[in-house]
Amino acid sequence: MIQTTLDQFFPFVGQELKQQSKNPTFQLPQDSEFANLHLAPYPFVGRKICPSCSMSYSMYCPYCTIPLPDYQPPKITLPLSVDIIHHPKEKRTKSTAIHLCILCPEQAHMYEFPDVPDYDPNTTICLFPSPQSEDVTDIKDWNQINKVVFIDSTWQQTGGICIDKRIQKLRKVQIHKQQTKFWRVQDKSPEYLATIEAIYYFFKEYAVSSAHMSGNTNYQYNGEYDNLLWYYVYQYERIQSEYVADKDKQVSKKLKQTYIRARRSKSEADQSGRSSEDGNEGDDVGQDKEQDGKLSDSKMDKEDDG
Ligand SMILES: [Zn+2]
Repeated sequence: MIQTTLDQFFPFVGQELKQQSKNPTFQLPQDSEFANLHLAPYPFVGRKICPSCSMSYSMYCPYCTIPLPDYQPPKITLPLSVDIIHHPKEKRTKSTAIHLCILCPEQAHMYEFPDVPDYDPNTTICLFPSPQSEDVTDIKDWNQINKVVFIDSTWQQTGGICIDKRIQKLRKVQIHKQQTKFWRVQDKSPEYLATIEAIYYFFKEYAVSSAHMSGNTNYQYNGEYDNLLWYYVYQYERIQSEYVADKDKQVSKKLKQTYIRARRSKSEADQSGRSSEDGNEGDDVGQDKEQDGKLSDSKMDKEDDG
């Protein structure tokens, strides 16, 4: 039996968070970019042993695709079933699409390419941005559609998946451009979303589009699918809190511009005589040097998720 303590697994977390541990939920910082989301409370209990494979992770087991004890996620019911086509070269520990499979175990299924079902193109659509893709907000026949496919791979791997005949024949749809909040270094545009971000924005646009299609033109999205980001947001904020609390934790220039963002910069600026460029390039959470360009950046660091 492993004894978990806050200090053991969150050694750099500040006093404020340690006090919150008496209350077993992690509060989003007031200035969180996600503060306006309707998220279920997140328990703050450190790493746990997976009851199925006995490996230690926090929040969920990416291999057994189950929540860990005391990390019961919110329940979400999706209006469409979801298939994730996961490239086998992508580590499951780094896939944010796993979040969906745990949050919606009855409606979301992951397939390891090339083990892909033969879909009915009349009822299945595939999220894939391209000049030929239909905007989700323009779709008028939602009542014909019962499944959406998301591809969970790097941009390069996506090409190989899309020329597969079973995927090629599907209607391609796209969401409006969004900026990623992903914490992992990537060299491509900030519009390359993590897979769970793409899934979240898809269902947000679906909610509006399908309501308008059925005549409910007054409908406005009111957070129904925000909990799709439950794992994502708390993982993001938990790691940020470690960097903010420990000013000496090394972080690369790239992450200073992206993941650590303004909070760390503000914190550093408060320390006189210290340049924000002082840090070396050594340790940056979620860094993946081999990663170069993702359509839906699905990577997630082992340190981050488990
Ligand atoms: Zn497991």
